[in-house]
Amino acid sequence: MGIESALGEGFFTTKIDALSNWARANAAWPMPMGLACCAIEMMAFAGPRYDASRFGSEVMRFSPRQSDVMIVAGWSTYKMAHAIRRIWDQMPDPKWCIAMGACASTGGMHRCYGVVQGVDNYLPVDAYVSGCPPRPDALLHALMKIQDKIKTEHSVLLDS
Ligand code: SF4
Repeated sequence: MGIESALGEGFFTTKIDALSNWARANAAWPMPMGLACCAIEMMAFAGPRYDASRFGSEVMRFSPRQSDVMIVAGWSTYKMAHAIRRIWDQMPDPKWCIAMGACASTGGMHRCYGVVQGVDNYLPVDAYVSGCPPRPDALLHALMKIQDKIKTEHSVLLDS
């Protein structure tokens, strides 16, 4: 008799999902990708005033192997886009991305040939933060939205 029939179909998997998502949502370590002035506000986000440790995200990692959430803060040139994408590819799954500020989200005021008009041209962005620059609490709000997203994901897959 399998454990599924003892506990009811789907019961066991759902509980592992919930536990895994709870742990992931409350330990989403940021990969800070500070590219321009928005990075100053991102540093404030990590400081004691805004207390990102309430959400388990105070541990900024400068190694992609230890990171869960890439925060792209500032405008991205085409030249830099290749390096950012390489770092993104080195982050283990599951991973999430925040585009912080008008420049990261759309290119902002930089309507010129050298600037990518939104990092979603080469990254799968999960949350956009408006503003120039956005306040640190807006970045916290984006982090909370990503936590909500993580909590609804199915991380444990069954063989069919
Ligand atoms: S959105 Fe504003 S503050 Fe942020 S990088 Fe662009 S110009 Fe700088």
